[in-house]
Amino acid sequence: MRRPAPLPIPLLTALAAALAAGCSSAPPPPDPGLTRTPATASAPAPADAATLAERLAYGSRTRTKLPPAYLHERLRERAATPAVDAAFERVRADDTPANRSALLHALERGFVHAETTSSLDLLGPELGQRFRSFNWHDDDYPGGPVGPNEHWAGTLADALDGVSPERRANRSAVAALRREEATEPIWERLLAAWRPIPGEEGHRLNRHAVGPYLAMREAAAADGVELVIVSAHRDPRRARANAARAANPFAVASFSSHALGLAIDLALPIPGGPAGDAAAFPLSTRPMARVVDMRRSPVHKWMHLHASGFGWYPYQHEPWHWEYNPPGFRAVLLEDLGGGPSPRGAPPASPG
Ligand SMILES: [Zn+2]
Repeated sequence: MRRPAPLPIPLLTALAAALAAGCSSAPPPPDPGLTRTPATASAPAPADAATLAERLAYGSRTRTKLPPAYLHERLRERAATPAVDAAFERVRADDTPANRSALLHALERGFVHAETTSSLDLLGPELGQRFRSFNWHDDDYPGGPVGPNEHWAGTLADALDGVSPERRANRSAVAALRREEATEPIWERLLAAWRPIPGEEGHRLNRHAVGPYLAMREAAAADGVELVIVSAHRDPRRARANAARAANPFAVASFSSHALGLAIDLALPIPGGPAGDAAAFPLSTRPMARVVDMRRSPVHKWMHLHASGFGWYPYQHEPWHWEYNPPGFRAVLLEDLGGGPSPRGAPPASPG
């Protein structure tokens, strides 16, 4: 089995993390492309197109997860994408924050809908290509039959986490609820808080997650991306029985975010694949090459760029699985579970 040459993961992951950190609410650092230009001139002469493209590409990294190298290339080749070309000319004529945002949006839309791109390209051209072209063994997804390159599957997940970090709702330092807190009374209140999703009534979510999901679905639709839920709520009583039979230990069915009503599995249609039919895209962990390929879906690319803005976060091993757990949500959920565990995470005293 072929193995890739050692990857400069620490460097690239640190870079990716730095890029992602720039997407938070912290004030953006000075734009290196612009600080070299005196900012005092009242009306600077319009930059020549090549210089402006360079400034935009490297000065936009705090406002998009698209890598500077990708932005630079698309701006250089902007004639091939009329929407990008038009937005670029508007910035050139009038370099306002609104016009820059519109240009970034056009670039993001182009990335999402391009048949040649994958969410893995958010890692930058070198690392993205390496993961995409790697000769994966069918069993390289961690768990179950052992594949020869499972460690690379872990590296892939770690690298992607640097771009678009997880916030696992059921198992992480920022969990909304922890396994040891899920007593029977807590489960009763959680199940009582499930609500059907308008337009996708067969699926339910915790009442706090429904609105943000609808807002996200609408924003995606405005970008030409249809979010379709394949699976959401799962009854924990049934999940407990199924856990024993699960081949995928990462699913942790007995205390899953699906059981909390805080997870969705999305259909991931892929360009060139069978159209529209979610059933044609089994959300399976095997073969691994297929799991990697799922990241070419416009749905997955759009989610990586935008989902966190709606409180939804990825699970890197499963491209289809997303969880609602925005900062501060644990306190909101615990308030709902009134009389449950403390926000500090101590389990409740056992009932007498
Ligand atoms: Zn799932």
